[in-house]
Amino acid sequence: MKNKKITTVFILLFNSLLVFFIFIAISQIKNVQASGPSVEASLQEVTQVNATPTPDSFSEEPLTGESPPNLYAAPLALNPNDHFYFTRPVIVDANTWNASNFIYGIGEDDPNSPHTGVDIKLPTGTSVYAAGSGTVVWAGYGLYLSSKDSDDPYGFAIAIRHDFGYQGETLYTVYGHLSQINIRRGQKVEVGQLIGLSGNTGVSTAPHLHFEVRLGLNDFFSSVNPELWTVPPEGTGVLVGRMTTTIGQKLLGQEIALKNLTTGITIFDHSYTSTEIIGSDSFYDENIVFSDLEAGDYRIYVPYVGYDFYLWVTIKSGSITYFRLNGLYGLVSEMPYDPLPINLPSLQ
Ligand SMILES: [Zn+2]
Repeated sequence: MKNKKITTVFILLFNSLLVFFIFIAISQIKNVQASGPSVEASLQEVTQVNATPTPDSFSEEPLTGESPPNLYAAPLALNPNDHFYFTRPVIVDANTWNASNFIYGIGEDDPNSPHTGVDIKLPTGTSVYAAGSGTVVWAGYGLYLSSKDSDDPYGFAIAIRHDFGYQGETLYTVYGHLSQINIRRGQKVEVGQLIGLSGNTGVSTAPHLHFEVRLGLNDFFSSVNPELWTVPPEGTGVLVGRMTTTIGQKLLGQEIALKNLTTGITIFDHSYTSTEIIGSDSFYDENIVFSDLEAGDYRIYVPYVGYDFYLWVTIKSGSITYFRLNGLYGLVSEMPYDPLPINLPSLQ
């Protein structure tokens, strides 16, 4: 009887230990899943990509453990001249345009070599999504050099020709410096589809995504400001300006300060540093854009040839506010006089 009791206790103890070990084992598996083996795998792949460039290489492995992209509905056009046709190529919470000081149209090192896109700072391995539906027309090295060259400044890059255009012209988006490409050339992609992972390939000093919008042709000289084409985060709007001399010549690198009258925070910026490479909007013909601005009242300040000019504007959520500096005539908020374009996406 005593032996039987001991045996029963032993079996119970053994079963408890067994349950405990199974529990530990399941916890371990769950931990591994939570930490994201796919990211580890991707990073290994990144290393391989950097070591031996393989143009047009891609991965069809589904990335597990990804949270769905927090993307906003597009197209959005609350004003007749707005054309926010694209969603953001990254999860909105991951970054905003203004978090980068390497924005569109500015040549930080060389004014004659301005930036043709926006840079979004992201850790290597962050998911990159198609900003709109279309067909992949480039996937791999060599986007700029037009040959499969690992020295290409865009690094591992993707270009998409979109299913919709603007005023009869074709729209493209470009994603540069990637560490991994998940699609192949010729493939159809849907808006919000995972197309690759961010990285630091090509001419890049730190991991980031270079995002470009091109209108007309898929080339370096056909870029337009992505801040005017991608839907703003909810509760924010975009300020677009055209700053010229009194006789209408665009001012290059003109200083400007924008003060949020609610928070008191001032953003300092300057106009595009070139008109040669940098494209402007067909309606606004802008040379300065502020985006991701909380809706509300702002004060624009422009110092020009010894004069101080001010203009008070209201930023509206989800739309564009326009201003103009007309040299010594100062700042005005009148819209351009050009005829209104059609602002709905046209299927190609
Ligand atoms: Zn860039």
